[in-house]
Formats: sequence, structure tokens, C-alpha cells
Amino acid sequence: MGLLDGKNALIFGLANERSIAWGITQAFKREGANLGISYAGEMLERRVKPLAEQVDCKWVEECDVTKDDQIALTAEKAAKHFGKIDVLVHSIAFAGRDELSKPYYETSREGFKTAMDISVFSLLALTNAFLPYLNPYASIMCLTYYGSVKVAPHYNVMGVAKAALESSTRYLAYDLGPQKIRVNAISAGPIRTLAAAGVGGFRDMYKHFADISPMRENVTIEDVGNSAVFLASDLSRRITGEVLYVDSGFNSVGVQMSAKDEKAE
Ligand code: NAP
Repeated sequence: MGLLDGKNALIFGLANERSIAWGITQAFKREGANLGISYAGEMLERRVKPLAEQVDCKWVEECDVTKDDQIALTAEKAAKHFGKIDVLVHSIAFAGRDELSKPYYETSREGFKTAMDISVFSLLALTNAFLPYLNPYASIMCLTYYGSVKVAPHYNVMGVAKAALESSTRYLAYDLGPQKIRVNAISAGPIRTLAAAGVGGFRDMYKHFADISPMRENVTIEDVGNSAVFLASDLSRRITGEVLYVDSGFNSVGVQMSAKDEKAE
């Protein structure tokens, strides 16, 4: 018996086999969910369709979250196919390369708006569009990063967007609580994905993380997938408005020292 048997789960933000959304999709499949997958643009179709086939997913739809009409149409199509939805995963973010390499104060107005629109507003927009089709105790979740609460060099406007995303998680959880709908965020440690490749200095940050996180290990998309199963399942039935860290304990450490430096003491 799977933890998600009989649940209809939609996953937004699958780009390729390195995507966090792919780790979540595979874990949901293992636990018995009926899957639906959404991707951003035509260019991704070639990559996403074969992945969807691997997990026997019949519902694969394009949805650019900057377009209200596409969001509305996607919700209608999902309702037609699944009836009601139990799980909605938002694994979407975007900021321009300039915004992720220059100093934060050089962020352009357009760059700021785009990052907030795609990475934050889209969670509200998807929630709003899918609300009529959500079952009681449905679980909505999004993906965030520690750069929301502390400075992660070069993360810049994306850190500000993640702060807004985490705050949105709490406001949505408050709004939807009476309808028994839960909203949570997973804060994942750095993982080598397409989106991460756009962040200046990511490689060094990734290596540094394995050196100083309490567990001395990087996080995988499988780790995030397993935690997403918990948040999607009835095991987390009274958990809402939370940020769940899946980061080998990194966020709990105030003074960071590498294993090498500690030994030198
Ligand atoms: P990813 O594979 O590149 O996924 C990001 C997804 O967002 C892509 O599928 C991307 O599609 C999609 N997206 C961008 N603009 C969109 C739009 N207008 N409409 C719909 N979808 C759009 O990278 P990822 O690392 O798995 O990112 C997934 C989530 O995890 C993001 O929220 C990210 O911030 C978060 N996260 C990542 C890390 C990390 O270290 N990788 C850590 C913590 C949190 P396109 O490729 O077509 O743009």
C-alpha cells in the first residue's frame, strides 16, 4: 500500500530529469498517486513527454504561469481529467541571469517584476484557479531556499522572491485553513539543476554546503521527493503554513566551520 494511493497529484515545473519536480514525481509514483505533469514551454515538450511516459502519466499539459488564460485552461483540463485534485506541487522559479550575478541593488525594475511574477505570484494564481477542484485536506506545496532568510551571495532578487513565497505560504494557509486545505513549503539545500546553474557561484556554494552542513552531505532530488510525499500524504494532515527544511541541517548552524577546520582545533 502506498502513502498516496488514490490521490490525484499535479506537479508544475518539470524541465528535465535533474529537476526537483522529477524527484517529487518519482516518489509520488512509488507511493501510488495518479499523476499529472505540467511544463513551461513548447521547447520542453520533447524532454518532458518521455519522462511522463516513464511514470505512466497520461495527463501532460503545457502551462506558462505568466499567462492567466493558460492557468485557467489547465485547471479546467485537469478537472475534466481527474475530477478532484488532492495535491498541487509548485516547483517553479525564474530570474534573469543579470539579476543573479550583479549586486542586488542593480536589479532592474523589469527583472524584479519578472522574478516575483513567475516565482511568487504564480503560487497564488494556481491556488486560485484550482481551488474549486481541490478536495478537502488537499495539500499545496512550493519549493523555497534558505536565501530567503539569510544572504546567499548572488541569489539576490530570488532570495527576496523566496521570502515573499514563504510569506505567501502562510497567508494562503490561513485563507484556506477553514476549507481544510493545507499549504506548505519545502526549503531544499542546493541541488544541481537547470535553475541553479543560473545562480552565480553556485558550484562553489554547492561544494561548501557538503563541507559544513551538520550531515556533511548534499541534498538530492530523491530526498526532496520523499519529504514531498510526507507533505502530500495524510501523515501531515494537521501541518500547514510551515517551511520544512530538507537541507542536511544547514539552516540550524550559526557559526559555520568546515570539518577540516574543526580537526585543526
Ligand atoms: P528546474 O528544473 O530548472 O525547474 C524550474 C522550473 O520552473 C522549470 O521547469 C522552469 O521551466 C519552470 N518555469 C520557469 N518559468 C516558468 C513559467 N513562466 N511558467 C511555468 N514554469 C516556469 O530547477 P529546480 O532547481 O528543480 O527548481 C524547482 C524549484 O525548486 C524552484 O522553485 C527553485 O527555486 C526551487 N529550489 C531549487 C534549489 C536548487 O538548488 N536547485 C534549492 C531550493 C529550492 P523552464 O525551464 O522552461 O524555464
